Amino acid sequence: SSKIIPKPKWLKAAPATSPKYHELRNTVRELGLATVCEEARCPNIGDCWGGGTGSHNGELTPEEKELGIGTATATIMIMGDTCTRGCSFCAVKTSRAPPPLDIEEPNKVAEAVTKWGLDYVVLTSVDRDDLEDQGAGHFRRVVQRLKELNAGKIDIEDGNSINGNNSIEGDNKKLIVEALTPDFRGDKDLISLVATCGLDVYAHNIETVERLTPRVRDRRAGYTQSLDVLSHVKDVANNNAILTKTSIMLGLGETDDEIRTALNDLRSVDVDVVTFGQYLQPTKRHLPVKEYITPEKFEEWRVCAEEEFGFKYCASGPLVRSSYKAGEFFLKNMRE
Ligand code: SF4
Ligand code: SF4
Repeated sequence: SSKIIPKPKWLKAAPATSPKYHELRNTVRELGLATVCEEARCPNIGDCWGGGTGSHNGELTPEEKELGIGTATATIMIMGDTCTRGCSFCAVKTSRAPPPLDIEEPNKVAEAVTKWGLDYVVLTSVDRDDLEDQGAGHFRRVVQRLKELNAGKIDIEDGNSINGNNSIEGDNKKLIVEALTPDFRGDKDLISLVATCGLDVYAHNIETVERLTPRVRDRRAGYTQSLDVLSHVKDVANNNAILTKTSIMLGLGETDDEIRTALNDLRSVDVDVVTFGQYLQPTKRHLPVKEYITPEKFEEWRVCAEEEFGFKYCASGPLVRSSYKAGEFFLKNMRE
């Protein structure tokens, strides 16, 4: 029905070339991991897996380390590839009764990620409304197993969260774990299970402004419910022990005022990190793009989020996804 707007040139990403990228790509095959980066053919794979440099080969100057350069990030999907929900922007396949969970997944994922040589891992999942605990217990076990194995491998100075001690020396880098989570239909016990499992970053996406939420997200999702999720994480995680993070897609027809209201709502529940990216229509059956936001406008939103609203950091750009160079941003901004 609505006319198709041509894609602007800034939506093309540079090809992946760095040695770090190639190294990670070779090992991911051997380990049998399924990454969102590859499955979704994410255009940022060179930047994220390559640690954002294009030349990094394990030998960084202290200044480069300080900037978070060479920090490789990847996103792994757990709990299967089939979602119980159907959001109108999302291409993940849907079923009311997806296959059961793989009870070996916590071990498999933790072993593979620990061997893989990543610095920052984002674990994400489909929504599992079919399960009694909506998968919260499984999510918790994956993170705990990952932290356990990784702590065994790496000499961590004080065992504290990276927020408590930001000194990371040489190769004694600690794996930082972010979970991008479902809303667990707002169930506080389930959110607590995940928020207290040793995570560094708890991410949950509001995806869009309040007015567009019913059109964009599954009917079981809700703007206020998602804010409540993020708020509850801070309540149970003793505020500074964990960062909270959310993402907003632009180009769905939202107004500047609506975005500002969303930023204000997020800060009112102490959300630390926000990302902005361009919504791209995955197939003709999905919501059409209303507008392509310019790179300059994305940069304005970054400055606005960080300087006016006080987010700890904001990644904002046409190709930015929730997990875009998450490790690099995290290290650059969380050092004292
Ligand atoms: Fe996609 Fe997540 Fe919505 Fe499921 S809940 S359809 S995975 S966006
Ligand atoms: Fe992977 Fe996310 Fe980076 Fe894309 S933005 S390459 S999905 S970590």
